[in-house]
Amino acid sequence: MSATKETCAVASLCVYNVPEVFDQDEDGQVEVLDAEPPADLHQAVRTAARACPTRSIHIETP
Ligand code: SF4
Repeated sequence: MSATKETCAVASLCVYNVPEVFDQDEDGQVEVLDAEPPADLHQAVRTAARACPTRSIHIETP
């Protein structure tokens, strides 16, 4: 899983919803804390990716 800072609109939705995985840098843009989160967070990360208004969260499925 990855996130694109360049398109992140600093809405903070992902940080609010899954703080174990997403944080914000000093400019307020998304920072991935855990690119390979544990299975119990997968659903929350998928939901965050769908909710991201700029489609900046990318999930790679094997
Ligand atoms: S939800 Fe999307 S636009 Fe909002 S902070 Fe996260 S990556 Fe950025």
